[in-house]
Amino acid sequence: MERDPHQTEFLQAVKEFFNSIEPVLERHPRLMEENILSRIVEPERIIQFRVPWTDAKGKTQVNRGFRVQFSSAIGPYKGGLRLHPSVNQSIVKFLGFEQIFKNSLTGLPIGGGKGGSDFDPKGKTDNEVMRFCQSFMTELQKYIGPDTDVPAGDIGVGGREIGYLFGQYKRLNGFHAGVLTGKPIPMGGSLARTEATGYGLVYFTEEMLKDTGKSFKNQKVVVSGSGNVAIYAIEKVHQLGGTVIACSDSNGYIVDLEGIKIETVKQLKEVERKRISEYIVKHPTARYNEGTVWEIDEEYQIALPSATQNEINGTIATKMIDNGVYAVAEGANMPSDLEAIEIYQNAGILYGPAKAANAGGVAVSALEMSQNSLRLSWTFEEVDMRLKEIMTKIYLDCRDTAAEYGVPGDFVSGANIAGFLKVSNAMISQGVV
Ligand code: NDP
Repeated sequence: MERDPHQTEFLQAVKEFFNSIEPVLERHPRLMEENILSRIVEPERIIQFRVPWTDAKGKTQVNRGFRVQFSSAIGPYKGGLRLHPSVNQSIVKFLGFEQIFKNSLTGLPIGGGKGGSDFDPKGKTDNEVMRFCQSFMTELQKYIGPDTDVPAGDIGVGGREIGYLFGQYKRLNGFHAGVLTGKPIPMGGSLARTEATGYGLVYFTEEMLKDTGKSFKNQKVVVSGSGNVAIYAIEKVHQLGGTVIACSDSNGYIVDLEGIKIETVKQLKEVERKRISEYIVKHPTARYNEGTVWEIDEEYQIALPSATQNEINGTIATKMIDNGVYAVAEGANMPSDLEAIEIYQNAGILYGPAKAANAGGVAVSALEMSQNSLRLSWTFEEVDMRLKEIMTKIYLDCRDTAAEYGVPGDFVSGANIAGFLKVSNAMISQGVV
């Protein structure tokens, strides 16, 4: 860890993981003998490259591209690509590190990776995004493939970007459906992949609530973000009888006490690519404020952070609990900082950590890979049913592992331990590689 003192997000993710695996090391001394911890925090490979492209005015722009191939212990590297100005090596390493254990928890044979660029797709024309994606893939294609490394979407990468990336890969290598997931349906995408992370988050939360005799019915919920994860989390909460009263984007948040109208959010964000502030034009009884959604003063019971890392600190966590929150489940990766996690745990509220609660997206990505290999397409209902089964199993594994290792109810430890055991056993079996 002292090798990368400035990689704050990566060190935070590693610290959270180390905090919870002590009981495993005591029970399995071989892990220390084999020096598994020093090995697992070191990525197998990091690729960093120049991404030159031409903007709409004909001016050459240069961004930085990354792919971290973190662990192939249990399968090909798998993890999304993020396009956001904040992307740097620390961010892709923290995301890649978390991805190892998340992928392991799904029960599917996929290793951990992540990538992206500091390119900002916001405000760019379709042609600019296409030229960037073509340049990015021209370099990335040397390192990926259906059986080696299979990227997908993340912040700033949806169907449009995956389409352009896939088009360029195909031009250079021929048609290999399995090289990317999250593809539009006509290119071999899976039904229910778009919905998977948001729906999966709500399925996980539903299981967590069920164990304490609760459900979404008549509960007020706040979701941060209004992107892919947030939209489908809101949709599923409403299907299960809860009411999402607020959501956000990076500029501000809307509060609609009658319940967020999801069709309006989809139209604004998925079709028109507009700001969430426009919501009140169509729904004048709602209100819009600048700032973070967690400033909200309303009473609510369930929080589903689904925007970005470190959006909740200790002060916000305390405020959430004062507002009546008894359950937090993470759609985003690492949205709660270490202080916030400590506050949830000391308060004894239900807490579903990201690597378990948001694993639905990568799980359906792996189902997309299976469908591509089989040259089959499953129906929406079939994929959704498998997603629900996987999320239920992840919840039960986290719960039962936490209990088995003497920390019942601590799903952070449960997720880290369950994910880690499978990967570390595979590493030991493969020798020193
Ligand atoms: P999108 O790009 O579709 O949406 C991101 C949302 O979060 C947007 O509303 C965006 O607002 C907001 N946001 C992004 N950065 C910030 C910031 N710094 N401060 C405040 N708001 C911000 O991304 P996804 O929905 O795909 O991803 C959201 C989170 O979920 C990420 O942490 C991602 O890693 C995680 N995740 C995603 C998966 C997936 O399948 N897509 C799978 C597992 C995890 P704006 O539009 O203004 O930028």
